[in-house]
Amino acid sequence: MLDVKNLNAWYGESHVLHGIDLQVAEGSVVSLLGRNGAGKTTTLRAIMGLMPKRTGTITYGGEDISTLRTDQIARRGIAICPEDRGVFGTLSVTENLMLPPVIAPGGMSIDHIYDLFPNLKLRASSRGRQLSGGEQQMLAIGRILRTGARFFLFDEPTEGLAPVIVQQIARTIKEIKEAGFTILLVEQNPHFVQDVADTHYLIENGQVVDMLQANEFGGQIHKVNKLLGL
Ligand code: ATP
Repeated sequence: MLDVKNLNAWYGESHVLHGIDLQVAEGSVVSLLGRNGAGKTTTLRAIMGLMPKRTGTITYGGEDISTLRTDQIARRGIAICPEDRGVFGTLSVTENLMLPPVIAPGGMSIDHIYDLFPNLKLRASSRGRQLSGGEQQMLAIGRILRTGARFFLFDEPTEGLAPVIVQQIARTIKEIKEAGFTILLVEQNPHFVQDVADTHYLIENGQVVDMLQANEFGGQIHKVNKLLGL
């Protein structure tokens, strides 16, 4: 369980998170929905210890990780898949997959990752820069599955991708969940999260304004769309 309580964060003098509370149960998929600038990426960065100034408490598996450095948090088994995907353009797909250090036993093998993403297997020796946006996203996801991390922070994995690729990413997220991993997913696409998440947090101006369980989401879709400006 990841438990975030009263999380505040600042960029310089600018106070951007105002007391975020959220919980992610082990083995679940939780979405964080909000408009551009609502504070979604900042929440992930704060969990990962990447914000220079933050307050509040973050516990993971009962341990207070709020004061740990990013590398220490990573060693607890939390990994982030950033919005820009961070694929190395001059390295091959396999080299990109092998790059992040293994931090714990139990990560997926390269073969398992290639089973999950057959398109990537076909492009194993292609350079990162030759991949489509969807392939880069799959590579960015595949890469952290190898590390032994059990808890993944995904930052807008569907951004800019065609509907057919979005469906593939949804299938992948379900398979990752079935394999026992936990996911906190930042998104602006309500249809995508409706398909994959167990719980949804709606955030606005650095605060949680609502929490919906999967079975409540459809009934509240107008409210969600309004929050997202759709
Ligand atoms: P997006 O989809 O645009 O990434 P978001 O919900 O993830 O939206 P954040 O990136 O967390 O939003 O941004 C929250 C607030 O912090 C915004 O007002 C944004 O302008 C501001 N902000 C983000 N990054 C920085 C930065 N490096 N320096 C200063 N302010 C920043």
